[in-house]
Amino acid sequence: MSHCLAERSIDHVVLERGEIANSWRTERWDSLRLLTPNWQSRLPGFGYAGDDPDGFRTMPETVDFVTRYAKAISAPVETATKVTSVRAVEEGYQVQTDRGEWRCRTVVIASGACNIANVPALSPAVPRSIETFTPMEYRNPDQLADGGVLVVGASATGIQLADEIHRSGRAVTVAVGEHVRVPRTYRGKDIQWLMDAAGVLDERYDQIDDIVRARNLPSLQLVGSPERATLDLNALAGIGIKVVGRLVGIRNGKVQFSGSLKNQCALADLKMTRLLDAIDEWTVANGLEGDVPPPHRFEPTRIDDAPSLEMDLTNAGMKTIIWATGYRPDTSWLHAPVFDRKGRIRHDGGVVIDAPGMYLLGMPFLRRRKSSLIDGAGSDARDLSIHVRSFLDGRV
Ligand SMILES: Cc1cc2nc3c(=O)[nH]c(=O)nc-3n(C[C@H](O)[C@H](O)[C@H](O)COP(=O)(O)OP(=O)(O)OC[C@H]3O[C@@H](n4cnc5c(N)ncnc54)[C@H](O)[C@@H]3O)c2cc1C
Repeated sequence: MSHCLAERSIDHVVLERGEIANSWRTERWDSLRLLTPNWQSRLPGFGYAGDDPDGFRTMPETVDFVTRYAKAISAPVETATKVTSVRAVEEGYQVQTDRGEWRCRTVVIASGACNIANVPALSPAVPRSIETFTPMEYRNPDQLADGGVLVVGASATGIQLADEIHRSGRAVTVAVGEHVRVPRTYRGKDIQWLMDAAGVLDERYDQIDDIVRARNLPSLQLVGSPERATLDLNALAGIGIKVVGRLVGIRNGKVQFSGSLKNQCALADLKMTRLLDAIDEWTVANGLEGDVPPPHRFEPTRIDDAPSLEMDLTNAGMKTIIWATGYRPDTSWLHAPVFDRKGRIRHDGGVVIDAPGMYLLGMPFLRRRKSSLIDGAGSDARDLSIHVRSFLDGRV
């Protein structure tokens, strides 16, 4: 956004509570790599220039990438400046920080979609003998007690942590709710490349039937590893991880799992097949059929005929629970009547409703399917910066 505002000669400042790339520095586990290939982190006027475009950045490489970008575009970033309150005043907004106050006519909320790790409401019933971690607290398996681990959630974070913790020699059970299954590669190409080329990631918020649902979909079951491995439930089961249904209750030291596992997996398999069908159609329509290996389908998710519906944590030797149950933004500092009844900011493609001059960036499906990716920030910022310019010129 800073780059796009500068392009339109809009005077601005970027307030950051930590250092540049703070979330990548402080809120991720040690082994994490981006699940988007290097070429895909395209920022306005800046992309990947190395010799491994199909590789996946480690966290230090990601921090370096974002930091170099800020420098390349001379972004006017004020680091170590935490915003503590934003409220509407005459002629714009008053922004209070721990380093003084700013006044501005417009404000862009780009404070992140993943500030707080979701923890299920039933978590207080976890017995004291079990230690719990959110993905923001987890760094590596050395933090965990010896013994079994229950990973709750099987989207990108859950499957990656289940795999890593299993490889540390602990028995892992993963509780699976709704998830989005995709292969890492298909017909010789990376799935992100295919979705990008076929236009899936560019689908717009105003072309989608149920945008509320699209904005709440879990992340893709993907990992960025040098081996380009597919990490789905079959892969996890194949190395000995136990797969059970969604966690629905905890009582007297026993956890209960939903009986919906089979249905959830059938639905994820069906949706994956539909995505692959769309990719196959795109391949034919674009005359690429002869250039890539022929289409094929993946084995359906293998589920036990009678998956466990209950587990006694002590008897099963469980010592740790990881809540890989998603993230949400922290907008507790925003004092404006802009929230819906679920506490989400009401907006139309990032233009905040009932708050003239307020914008939102970096949220799932804000304007495009790719909005929550690094790669989506540029197009969204460009669109919104046009709106900011019109607003400042009195044309909105
Ligand atoms: C575990 C995980 C893995 C991910 N992997 C990928 C991936 O592989 N590829 C990809 O493209 N995307 C990935 N994402 C999504 C990724 O977070 C976004 O693409 C990208 O970080 C969005 O950038 P952002 O600037 O909108 O948000 P953030 O990176 O969260 O940045 C927000 C910034 O705002 C600051 N801030 C927050 N509150 C305040 C305040 N009150 N005052 C001042 N500053 C504040 C924060 O310190 C932070 O630096 C992942 C997300 C998570 C959680």
